[in-house]
Amino acid sequence: MDKTNSLKSFKRAQSHIPGGVNSPVRAFKAVGGEPIFMQSAKGAYMHDIDGNKYIDLINSWGPMILGHGKVQIERAVIEAVKKSLSFGAPTNAEIEMAELIAHMMPSIEKVRMVNSGTEATMSAIRLGRGFTKRDKIIKFEGCYHGHGDSFLIAAGSGAATMGEPDSPGVTKGTAKDTITVPYNDLEKVREVVMENPDQIAAIILEPIAGNMGCVPPVSGYLQGLRTLCDEYGVVLIFDEVMTGFRISKAGAQQYYGVKPDLTTLGKIIGGGMPVGAYGGRADIMDMVSPSGPVYQAGTLSGNPVAMAAGLAMLKYLNENTEIYTRLETMTEYIVQGIKLNVLKLGLKYTVNSVGSMFSLFFTDEKVIDFEGAKKSDLNMFGKYFNAMLNKGIYLAPSQYETLFVSSAIDEIEADLIIQASYDSLKEIH
Ligand code: PLP
Repeated sequence: MDKTNSLKSFKRAQSHIPGGVNSPVRAFKAVGGEPIFMQSAKGAYMHDIDGNKYIDLINSWGPMILGHGKVQIERAVIEAVKKSLSFGAPTNAEIEMAELIAHMMPSIEKVRMVNSGTEATMSAIRLGRGFTKRDKIIKFEGCYHGHGDSFLIAAGSGAATMGEPDSPGVTKGTAKDTITVPYNDLEKVREVVMENPDQIAAIILEPIAGNMGCVPPVSGYLQGLRTLCDEYGVVLIFDEVMTGFRISKAGAQQYYGVKPDLTTLGKIIGGGMPVGAYGGRADIMDMVSPSGPVYQAGTLSGNPVAMAAGLAMLKYLNENTEIYTRLETMTEYIVQGIKLNVLKLGLKYTVNSVGSMFSLFFTDEKVIDFEGAKKSDLNMFGKYFNAMLNKGIYLAPSQYETLFVSSAIDEIEADLIIQASYDSLKEIH
């Protein structure tokens, strides 16, 4: 595969962009390679600047659930651009967006639009703290909620009672208010809540983890968290930036039948534009300024072009809910194909999947938490990633990222993925 132009671009990019990319995982550092620079995309495929094409299993890290170049979204954006790029004043599109979100995801009575998933989660925990008048939050090892300081916290040593900064620049003061516990371990989180009486403002989690690879919740876990939060007056926040409008019309909360107090959204809700949102119970959301004292604002929040893209996306999903069955069936087809490949080659690896998310872990053990995910052989993953890339399949360049199937992937692409996976696994062993 010719990578001449991508290599040239990467070299050039490094002069004026830290690490040559605007988001670290794009640099391919975790898989030992150089990033591929893209030029265009259509349907299930992305095209790079050297003329190579790839079946896309990242879909811009989730937003492009319908594949690339969906005409309804493009048209809506073009129409919006003709009217104004930005007003900085209220528009009817924002009302329409709020109404549609509330309709599709009934736990959301009121919603505030922001510009990214990070903004949504940062704002949601501030709101949780403002509402409960408590300081501490609980998050889970391996769950990612964007790059807000409160989330860049590793589990403290010993008893999980106090976090440690996970990045220079995050203060110890911030870290002490984030308690990190293992995912899918209800007993542990209950212990921590009981050890910190009247101190926990919020529990935030990915209801299906996608940022340690795909790790679904074990049976009863989300329900158990709901009960715990009710018992102790803790705000339950589902970070559905990844799963919202992907796992079902109303996200993981509908899929598992558990209602959070607040939900954070991003990715799909912007149809490919930079959009996030947080919303939930009206009594909590009414604490947000200007109706309440919890401050949060944004110059470009509710931007008309972004709203047009997001609305076109959500309307399509709302009117074509059969898409979720199709996505799940296609993902299951791919997953079964990969499992069969593993078996045929006499290997023992684990494949996790739910809805249109899946991950192959290079371990024979079950993966239900970050400890489990970390047992995957990263060296093997790097080789697999590069072998797949050379066969025209674009995977997430990190073991700790889920893959996404879009509705643009048909049987033809699914079979190509399964075959490439077989050939790649064979090649690297
Ligand atoms: N929350 C989850 C679950 C995510 O997966 C991400 C990003 O991948 C974020 C929050 C942060 O979103 P953004 O990258 O838009 O800031």
